[in-house]
This record gives sequence, structure tokens and C-alpha cells, in this order.
Amino acid sequence: MKKNDVVKVTIEDIGINGEGIGKIQNYPLFVKGGIPGDEILARITKTKKTYGYGRVEEILHPSPDRIEPPCPIAEPCGGCQLQALSYEKQLTFKEKTVKGNLERIGKVPSPLLEKVMNPIVGMEEPFRYRNKAAYPIGRNRDGRIVAGFYAGRTHQIIPVDDCLLGKKENKTILNKIISHVEKHQIEPYDEVGHRGLIRHVLIRYGEKTGEWMVSIVINGNTIPKKEELIEALVEIQGMTSISLSVNKKNTNVIMGNEIITIWGQEYITDKIGDLSFQISPLAFYQVNQKQTEKLYNLALTYADLKGKEKVWDLYCGIGTISLFLAQKAEMVYGVEVVPEAIENAKENAKINGLANARFYVGKAEEVLPAHIKEHGRAEVIVVDPPRKGCAESLLETMVNMEPERIVYVSCDSATLARDVKYLRENGYELREVTPVDQFGMTVHVECVCLMTRKET
Ligand code: SAH
Repeated sequence: MKKNDVVKVTIEDIGINGEGIGKIQNYPLFVKGGIPGDEILARITKTKKTYGYGRVEEILHPSPDRIEPPCPIAEPCGGCQLQALSYEKQLTFKEKTVKGNLERIGKVPSPLLEKVMNPIVGMEEPFRYRNKAAYPIGRNRDGRIVAGFYAGRTHQIIPVDDCLLGKKENKTILNKIISHVEKHQIEPYDEVGHRGLIRHVLIRYGEKTGEWMVSIVINGNTIPKKEELIEALVEIQGMTSISLSVNKKNTNVIMGNEIITIWGQEYITDKIGDLSFQISPLAFYQVNQKQTEKLYNLALTYADLKGKEKVWDLYCGIGTISLFLAQKAEMVYGVEVVPEAIENAKENAKINGLANARFYVGKAEEVLPAHIKEHGRAEVIVVDPPRKGCAESLLETMVNMEPERIVYVSCDSATLARDVKYLRENGYELREVTPVDQFGMTVHVECVCLMTRKET
């Protein structure tokens, strides 16, 4: 088989990036756009010794699980890898991903896995769930100023003003900003030449409060005629915070660290369960409010607090899980590396009247060992690391502290599995695993696990 050959293949599985996988005489072929159950003609785009890549040339018999993607640009955008797959089957795929990783990477024995795996918690409405969107602003092929997404790994912006995962109002906000940019002939940023002013627009929405935040990322210090832009943006009902984020670096990191509030508050507020949270532009906040409530409730259930416990919440962001736990624990210590997030966390403890939470800025792997003596034994440790998972030195510290329970919230089941392996080899057993779908239409999987100390 060689490049440009067209072959008939049946798609049998989904790869980690959402691509279809079929086999031609035991040679796996990864086909972008293929859905399990599809019988297709695939055009080979690349061949390697043990596997190859292809794309769909023609669908001969569509899979019964194939649906027409509701978004007209699902394919070129690439942000929703699973839109052509029925939501039910997306959930099955996610369950399988978590299970497969725990089995393969985590070396969790099958009988144990059968016992501890719970069904995935799906969404009631798998569209319009994202409360945050960051749109690059640039010029399209015709030189028109557009907001959109970068196509694949390119610098080409595909215009999208109504992403179906985001809120309807995003479009109105973007249009107001683009009109302003056009009217005053402000240059959008050009990634390649590192020139131009307007880089990105970050939009955040408080699902429970209706509050809007707009932060405009600029390669400069201010925006021409900003009062006029503010006037246009405050027409949006619920507008609460408008800021500029200064990012002059030649980088693909979206936000700049300097935030200049130009109208309203420095933050918006949202609610999860009974608690209110202030969120500033630089702080992490879960993108799917409804599912987050379910996720945190599971974390709280797994922590099994009776009121006398000391708890660490590592990678605490704005203190969301910490304060959930503080409702039931004696004392919670939160650790987070972003200083603005910790400022939010402290304020959040105050506005919710929870005095039994303390927060530290720093890396979990450094802060935790430095404060063990001072705070004594903790019964529960919660971790919620970014995709790369926990540093091994942190896991080692945790194990030496001998907490009864470790609650692991994960947004990448491969690194979760790696960390579960370490913890199982060092005195902890896996008791519960529940995937929660936070990111419908995409391949991303969130999941929460309970590990407890083995009897010695
Ligand atoms: N538990 C929070 C945040 C989870 S996201 C929530 O549910 O909202 C992961 C967080 O870890 C981010 O806020 C990120 O800034 C932070 N982080 C990344 N590396 C870290 C480290 N080494 N130590 C502490 N926090 C870290």
C-alpha cells in the first residue's frame, strides 16, 4: 500500500484523537472522519511500517451511529472531533478510553476494574455548554477581519462566530468588537509577522448569574477609542467585567499576565451548588458548570467527610473543590500555582462564610512538603492536576503522609492511569472510578476516582 491508493475499509474503533481506525489485513489505518461501523473508501495519505493514515474518500455504507454534524464547519474546525458520532456512542467511547488506559497504562487488573468502574455521567444537553471561549482575531484569505479558530495546526483562521459548544451571545460580542476594529482601522494581530494589536477575545459567562466577562488580548498597551467600544459592549445584558490583557510576547499562549480592567469589576461571579465563586480572567474555572456540579458532588462523596478531617486540595484553582469540601471538613488547605486564582480563592472563602479554608500560592509538589509538619496528619487529599498529571515527587509526599483517602480528579485518563499505577504500588487501592462528560462532542474525558489506603 502506498500514498494516494484508495482502499475499501470498515472502521472498527476510535483512536485517542477521535479518528476512525480500520484494518487492512491487520495493518491499522487511522482515518480522520471515519466512524465505527462505516464502510468506506479511504485514500491513503501516509504510510508507516506498522500503521498508516488516510482520509474518507467515499462513504459506501454509513455506520448506524453516524449523524449529520449540526455544526456546518465541524470538519475544518476540528475542535469537535466526535460531532458525527451519536452522543450515546460518544459516551461509550469515553468509558472505554478510561477503562483502556487504566488497564494498559495503570496495570489495574480486569476483575478489579470491573468492580470499580461506574457508568459515565453524561450531559442532558451536549451543546452550548461552554462558559468560556477564546477567539483569535485575524484576517481571512480575503483580508476581511474575522473571529474564529485556527484550522488544525495552522495560522489560518477559519471564521466561526457561532460555535455550537459556546453561548449564542458570543456572536453579538464578537461582532461589536470586530465592528470597532474595522471602523477605527485597528490592525488584528498577525502571528507570523508578530505585528498588529488585537490578538484574542476571551469571553466568560456565569451560567447561574448571567454575568459576562470580556477580556481583549492585545499586543500593546491600550485600544484606540476604547470608551466607544465599552459603550457598545455594556449594551449586553449582564455585562460585568471588561478588561485588556497585555500580551506582547511572540507565543501561542493566549493570555498576557497583565490585566487592565477598563470597565466594571475585575471578576465575574458564578455559582456551583450553594456556593458562589469569583472568577478573574487569568484563573482556571471549569468550562461546563452543570457537569462540574455533578463532578464536585462525586468528589465530596468520595472524600466521605464527617466533620473532623483535615483535607488538602491540590491544584485548587479558585478554591472551588476546596470550599465544597470545607462545608463538611474541619479544615481545608488549598494549593495553586496561579496567584490571581489564589486571590479569588481567598475572597471566595469569605463571600461564602467559610473560615476553615487556607490557601497557598505555589507548586503542589513544593508547598505540600513544606507545610506537613505545621498542619499534621490529613485524612483526605484531593488532587485535580492539569493534563500532565501529578509530579512523581508529589505522589511520593502524599504516600508518606498516609492519608486514608485520595480523591483524584483528572482531565486526562492516560496520566491518571500512570499515577494510579504509582499509588497502587505504594499502598493505595483503587475503589471508585466515575467518568463525567464535561466536554461533549470532543474526545476529552474528565473523571473522578477514589483510592484508599490498603490495610497493612
Ligand atoms: N480544582 C480546580 C482547578 C483544576 S485545573 C477546579 O476544579 O476548578 C488545574 C489547576 O492546577 C490550574 O488552576 C493550574 O493553574 C494549577 N496548576 C498547574 N500546575 C500546578 C502545580 N504544579 N501546582 C499547583 N497548581 C498547579
